[in-house]
Amino acid sequence: MSSESLDPIHVPADDGAPLASPVPLEPTVDPEPRRSFDGVEPSISARGVRKSYVGGDGTPIHVLDGVDLDVRPGEMVSVIGASGSGKSTLLHVLGALDRPDEGAVSVGGVPVAGLNEQGMAELRAKRVGFVFQFHHLLREFSALENVMMPQLIAGTGEGRARERARELLDLVGLAGRLEHKPSQLSGGEQQRVAVARALANRPLVLLADEPSGNLDPSTSDRLHEHLFRVCREEGAAMVLVTHDLALAARADRVLRLLGGQLVDAAPGAPGAAA
Ligand code: ADP
Ligand code: MG
Repeated sequence: MSSESLDPIHVPADDGAPLASPVPLEPTVDPEPRRSFDGVEPSISARGVRKSYVGGDGTPIHVLDGVDLDVRPGEMVSVIGASGSGKSTLLHVLGALDRPDEGAVSVGGVPVAGLNEQGMAELRAKRVGFVFQFHHLLREFSALENVMMPQLIAGTGEGRARERARELLDLVGLAGRLEHKPSQLSGGEQQRVAVARALANRPLVLLADEPSGNLDPSTSDRLHEHLFRVCREEGAAMVLVTHDLALAARADRVLRLLGGQLVDAAPGAPGAAA
């Protein structure tokens, strides 16, 4: 897939220049045209998803209380919400790391409810990429090997895995760091390797849980430039959980997890107040 076919939006080169500092989510002129995903089959779909945990005193905590969501190829949805509102729980359920108590999740049209544990593991390996706050790279392996690894596990030949890893690391601006071990990379670079690794098996869905949570603002901005660009170029549907409202506002849609449900958090929408 060429970047031209999917990406009408110019992404500035990673030239190291400091990017704009975070600003509150407010009605400003949007410099990027909103893209339409009407009529495209969703890569990930959730309907009526509920999930509760039992609290310390034995009473249930209804973390997800009827979540509906569709995300289409190349579409980026950001999810904001207070700490403890269930954002990580939502990503776990969307990515078949966990099952909902009620409701349905489908990835690439495959209902997760119909899969056993092994089926869920296969779905995750082939169809879902995760980026967490802490990268969890394999310390004894190079950047290139870290991005090759999920492909080798999925049965891709070494030559093709290497080629794909190079391509992805190039896309995240790390063509010059292929042989570096995680300890030889900066925090932001490590997270960019984690982004490349998450996309290694061409997942339909990329789930990112506060991927820049431990990075400084300018490093965080650059991570996200790469994250957005790679998702668009690869046509992955992305759900990005973030605390950064300015960043969230750059997605195609901004949703807030409130009272266990996803509500429109676009400026002016009910529940949009930060
Ligand atoms: P967020 O990512 O928005 O901060 P989480 O999804 O991690 O929120 O957690 C939502 C709520 O569910 C919190 O109150 C948390 O304590 C609770 N919770 C999360 N995981 C578990 C678990 N495995 N067992 C019990 N409670 C949990
Ligand atoms: Mg969380």
